[in-house]
Amino acid sequence: MDDRQFRTSMGKFATGVTVITTELDGDVHGMTANAFMSVSLDPKLVVISIGDRAKILNKIKESKIFTVNILAADQQEISMIFAGQIKEPREVVFDRLDGKPVLAGAIVQVACEVSAEHIEGDHTLFIGKVTDIHLEEKEPLVFFNGKYRALAEV
Ligand code: FAD
Repeated sequence: MDDRQFRTSMGKFATGVTVITTELDGDVHGMTANAFMSVSLDPKLVVISIGDRAKILNKIKESKIFTVNILAADQQEISMIFAGQIKEPREVVFDRLDGKPVLAGAIVQVACEVSAEHIEGDHTLFIGKVTDIHLEEKEPLVFFNGKYRALAEV
């Protein structure tokens, strides 16, 4: 199995799209991520996986906090901004949840404190203890086979 076959195969797993944010010394940094999963109900835990070349990695290690913002169908541009797919800098205004930066318009905003981190290969898994959640009823942005999609009614 080569790298391309592995990436192509993993891309067949349809996911939502999130933007992870953190804040260090008053600066908010965000990154698009789909490696996100709910881990435990009691206590409430989630996990994210951050590549070792991502600038946000050391920021989360230092700040010990992050938020997960599950994007709505109309937020593809936001995803592209925080994935570096739109190169020109854009001003993004952040709301606050439990004092942590979150994205307005997201379907779900999850505020977390880092409760553990595990380096696995070229990624770091952060376990987040959920400190607050905000939920809206909207359609999600979907990512499948390397492309943004929307849910369609069958
Ligand atoms: P940067 O390259 O510094 O930031 C990314 C972009 O966000 C830059 O253009 C920057 O200008 C912008 N930005 C950051 N903060 C702000 C701000 N406050 N205001 C305005 N703009 C800002 N990588 C992973 O490690 N794990 C994943 O699970 C993952 N899933 C992905 C899923 C999808 C659908 C996509 C498209 C990409 C995914 N990536 C993932 C790749 C990751 O999003 C990119 O590699 C990203 O560019 C790396 O971010 P960085 O922390 O190095 O930040």
